[in-house]
Amino acid sequence: MDSCLFCRIASHELPSKMAHEDDRVVAIHDIHPQAPVHVLIIPKKHIGTLNDVSAEDAPLIAYMFDVARKLAEQHGVAQSGYRTVFNVNADAGQTVFHLHLHVIGGRKLSWP
Ligand code: AMP
Ligand code: ZN
Repeated sequence: MDSCLFCRIASHELPSKMAHEDDRVVAIHDIHPQAPVHVLIIPKKHIGTLNDVSAEDAPLIAYMFDVARKLAEQHGVAQSGYRTVFNVNADAGQTVFHLHLHVIGGRKLSWP
């Protein structure tokens, strides 16, 4: 996916402020943070939205939450609280069509 923003970030073709990288995912600090902690966990595999996840991706999705928990600990919000979010398509406001898990914390969050 040559034209995909998050594929290009995950491959280091474009710069980002990385919070974590391993063989399956990168985590970057959001360019327009909505809270003091706002990290995006991005799989290196291109998947458009949560609707495009297949059964074989289940371990990857579970792993993304494992990374989310560790990043929340590292950024000091595990106890105070944080939110993990997949926005899916227009009504949720998805703007980048490469799967990413938001990890948001460091302030009191309203709902929804
Ligand atoms: P979503 O609305 O769920 O698709 O979220 C996309 C997120 O990506 C938004 O919070 C944007 O601020 C963020 N974003 C867009 N471009 C970049 C970028 N180059 N580096 C870091 N975050 C970005
Ligand atoms: Zn992509």
